[in-house]
Amino acid sequence: MTNAKKYVQTIQEKLHQQDRGEVEFLQAIDEVLPTVTHFLENHPEYIEQNILGILVEPERIIQFRVPWQDDQGNWCVNRGYRIQYNSALGPYKGGLRFHPSVNLSILKFLAFEQIFKNSLTGLPIGGGKGGSDFDPKGKSDGEIMRFCQSFMLELSKHIGPSLDVPAGDIGVGGREIGYLFGAYKRIKQYDAGVLTGKPLNFWGSKVRTEATGYGLVYFVKHLLAQEQDSFTDKTVFVSGSGNVAIYAIEKAQALGAKVVTCSDSSGFIYDPTGIDLDLLKEVKEKNRQRLTEYAAQKTSAVYHEGKSVWSLEEVCEIALPCATQNEITGELAEILVKNGVQIVAEGANMPATVEAVSAFHDAGVWYCPGKAANAGGVAVSALEMSQNSQRLTWESEQVDQQLDEIMQTIYETCRQTAAEYDEEKNLLLGANIAGFAKVAEAMSAQGLV
Ligand code: NDP
Repeated sequence: MTNAKKYVQTIQEKLHQQDRGEVEFLQAIDEVLPTVTHFLENHPEYIEQNILGILVEPERIIQFRVPWQDDQGNWCVNRGYRIQYNSALGPYKGGLRFHPSVNLSILKFLAFEQIFKNSLTGLPIGGGKGGSDFDPKGKSDGEIMRFCQSFMLELSKHIGPSLDVPAGDIGVGGREIGYLFGAYKRIKQYDAGVLTGKPLNFWGSKVRTEATGYGLVYFVKHLLAQEQDSFTDKTVFVSGSGNVAIYAIEKAQALGAKVVTCSDSSGFIYDPTGIDLDLLKEVKEKNRQRLTEYAAQKTSAVYHEGKSVWSLEEVCEIALPCATQNEITGELAEILVKNGVQIVAEGANMPATVEAVSAFHDAGVWYCPGKAANAGGVAVSALEMSQNSQRLTWESEQVDQQLDEIMQTIYETCRQTAAEYDEEKNLLLGANIAGFAKVAEAMSAQGLV
């Protein structure tokens, strides 16, 4: 066994011992660390400096209580978190997730992945993530506002435009960012650059809402182009029907694909004539309804209650999972392979389990990991920070073009790095090594901090 392999295994074993029970976090560790071994074999100086051992420890974890009152006057409490994982490349940057499943393990996995994702964008941002186990579903606007105000009362002590800049994620969209921003302003001062994903009328960036979904499709577009192919007439499965899913569907359709599925946590829609995007936006964005409402209004759509999109046995050439972590198990991945999938690109973070990823690799499917393929959201967030510092707003075309270029660079970096390690089709290896290399270099240059 090489020195690098022994070193990496020791770190993995230590984390499995210390963080027992943090299933998602350990899953992310086990996905990244073995691939980084190949890089460390050529960089013994980083082993000597224990860069990886230091990197896997978050710089800071903040946990706090969030008391709030519901519409009936009940006194409620939730847990709030912010993981400030790594600031070697810039201020901590990463979304806030409001979902009942949120816990330390999920946020640590998301923040850990965010370090490499942000590094891949080539922009000056470190990695962080936060959120709460608060469930926004079924809550009134007043309840959401009171929760956001209480959450920010504590979070405001730990963030700032040059320190930590949160954005949205599951359950946190423009409405929540607006309430959080208003609360921050009242507690501290007007600082446009303290949050990203802001509405356009107070210094949000054009194309930020669309950025993750569009960026995902741009990533795949560049991969297809290199293979002398395109989205035209491709049959695409999408999961989720939130921010990422809706704009991935929009851009894939614009490039000529036929998207036939979308989902929420209660079931999925199969619409062989193609998803009606206007109807989907009306149901999900405007009226905040469930997907059953889409099926009720579109006769060609079949609603499969309680089922996963990935259990559908129909032709699928490109799969874009855009809902949540671990939604594609090994078994579901085998179904996708049988359906003829050629490309799986992750809009969500870690939607494929370790078994699913191996099934894709074994079948020769192009697997595009979330840390590369869904980096468009954070990239445009960083562009929003630049606009806020300049006190300027850029036009949609300018932001969209930069997004496309950033996604092309990320794609090329992953592919070239994978090729350097003689694994041209292994974009996961390419993403992990390229993301890690920059952070390791910066950490080493900054000394033992
Ligand atoms: P939204 O809250 O807008 O939408 C989430 C969608 O996924 C909804 O359709 C939701 O259904 C579904 N979903 C959530 N949890 C589950 C679950 N446990 N099982 C099945 N379906 C579920 O979130 P986003 O679109 O912003 O985020 C989706 C994914 O993309 C997440 O993994 C997020 O981390 C990732 N991501 C988001 C970015 C962004 O810019 N927003 C950037 C990069 C990654 P329901 O309505 O029923 O809850």
